[in-house]
Amino acid sequence: MSDNCLFCKIINGELPSTPVYTDEHVIVIWDINPKEPVHLLIIPREHIISLNEVEEKHDHLMAHIMLLLPKLAHEQGLDKGFRTVINTGSGGGQEVFHLHVHLLGGF
Ligand code: 5GP
Ligand code: ZN
Repeated sequence: MSDNCLFCKIINGELPSTPVYTDEHVIVIWDINPKEPVHLLIIPREHIISLNEVEEKHDHLMAHIMLLLPKLAHEQGLDKGFRTVINTGSGGGQEVFHLHVHLLGGF
């Protein structure tokens, strides 16, 4: 938990959200400004700033997210395929500094 982190506030319920999926490691929500018909955000419950801050101890979490992505895509009907994006740092287009994976598709 980090003060003034938008995604931490969503995770701890301070800000309302309607998750499409949750488990002990992540929550998954719709992006507020979808770039494609399906645009989900897979957000670890742990406050990790970005991919730059991922450590060996996060190996299980990162594998969990990778294995979850095709399942979520299938649930959303993205049978032709999907796109995943992780923006890292201001130079990588990251706007919310709590690690998240974008899952996009449906065009
Ligand atoms: P980034 O550029 O950091 O990779 O992506 C941040 C994403 O979070 C953007 O696609 C943006 O639309 C989304 N976003 C920003 N604020 C909110 C919010 O309050 N709720 C949700 N669901 N998504 C948000
Ligand atoms: Zn956070």
